[in-house]
Amino acid sequence: MLKLTFLGTSAGVPTKQRNVTALAIECLNPYLSGLQQGIRQQNANQNKKSRPWLLIDCGEGTQQQLLHTKLSLHQLAAICITHVHGDHCYGLPGLLASAAMSERRDPLTLIAPKAIATLLEAITLTTELYLPFTLNFIAIEEVLSEQRDTSKVNIRLSDQHQLDIDITLLAHRVASHAFGITQTIHHRTLDTDKLLAQGIPASALWGKLQQGHDVITEEGQQLCAGDYVNDELSRTRVVVAGDNDTPACLTAALVDTDLLVHEATYTHEVLTKIQAKNPEFDPMHSSAQLVADFVENSGVNNLILTHFSARYQGFENPNSKTPNMAYIRLDAESVYKGNLWLAADFDQYMVDGAVDVAGIKENNRVQYLGSARGR
Ligand SMILES: [Zn+2]
Ligand SMILES: [Zn+2]
Repeated sequence: MLKLTFLGTSAGVPTKQRNVTALAIECLNPYLSGLQQGIRQQNANQNKKSRPWLLIDCGEGTQQQLLHTKLSLHQLAAICITHVHGDHCYGLPGLLASAAMSERRDPLTLIAPKAIATLLEAITLTTELYLPFTLNFIAIEEVLSEQRDTSKVNIRLSDQHQLDIDITLLAHRVASHAFGITQTIHHRTLDTDKLLAQGIPASALWGKLQQGHDVITEEGQQLCAGDYVNDELSRTRVVVAGDNDTPACLTAALVDTDLLVHEATYTHEVLTKIQAKNPEFDPMHSSAQLVADFVENSGVNNLILTHFSARYQGFENPNSKTPNMAYIRLDAESVYKGNLWLAADFDQYMVDGAVDVAGIKENNRVQYLGSARGR
C-alpha cells in the first residue's frame, strides 16, 4: 500500500492555493504490528518508524508544506528529482538543511540528474551547509546507462518489504524523468484452523512453520511448512512522471501499473494557442487531453493529474468565464473513461495494489482520503 500526499500541484510558480511541485509517498506495510495476523487493513495503524516515505520532487517551500502534515524528515527514505527546473528542485537545499538541524543522522538516498549534485556542492561551499548524515547520491544518467535489469534502484525497507524505483526518460526542454515505484511485500499466513483441527496447539512450532521451516512435534510427527503456510504477495506500482510533452514515452513503464500521476499544465486549446503564438519556444508540457487520451488506451485505469498552470483557479465550474479546474477535467474526460482525480495541495490518496494469494488475484484500488492539512 502506498499513501500519496500532494505537497505542491502548481506549474512554474506558486499560487495562494498551490505550491510548486512535490509529492510524498508513504510505504505502508499492512502486515506489521498492531494488525491481526494475515489481515490487510485500510489505513493501517502503524507506528511512524515503520512508515518510511519517498519525496518525488522538491519545489521551493516544500519543507513548509510538510509542516502541515504528519510526515517527518526522520522517516524520509529517499528523494527523487525528476528534472532540474527550479519549480521541481529549489526546495532541496533548505529541506536538507532542516533535516540536519532536526538531528537526522540516518543516511538519505538522493536520485537525481547529475547537475543536482553540482547545485548542492555550490550551496555547500557558499552557504556553510553541513549535512551530518550521508547523502547517497545516485545519478539518473548512470542508472539509465546501465541498460540492464539492474537499471533499478532497490530500497530494502525490511526482509519482506522492498521498493524498486525504475526510471524512464521523458520529453521536455531538459532531460526529465518518470519514477516507477514498485512496492513488494511478501507475507506468509499460517493455516491455524488446519493446525488446531489436527490437534496441534499454538506453540513455538507455529512460528517456525510460518517462517517456512519443517518441524517435528514432541510426539514425533513431521509437519511440512508447505502444508500449513500460504504465501501472499502484495504488489503496488505507481508511476510519477515529471514534466513531459509526450505521454507515449511511458508505454513500457505503465505495464502492470495501478496509478499514473502526470502533469497536465493546461487544456489542449491553451496548449495549441501557446505553441502557435511563439513557434520558437515550446514549453514542452502536456495538456490534460493529451495525457488522458494516452492513458485511455494504456490499460491503466487510475489517473491523477497535477502541475496546473497558475491561470486555473481551484474551483470547478464549467460555466464560469474564469479558467478553473472544470476546464481541465472536461478536457481529460472528453477522451478518458477511467478514474480521474485532479490533485490539490495536501490531497491524500491510498493506492492498494493487486494481491496474489495462492494464484488468485484481487483487483487494485485507489481511494481519495481527503486533505492532510490540519489532521
Ligand atoms: Zn514544472
Ligand atoms: Zn520543467
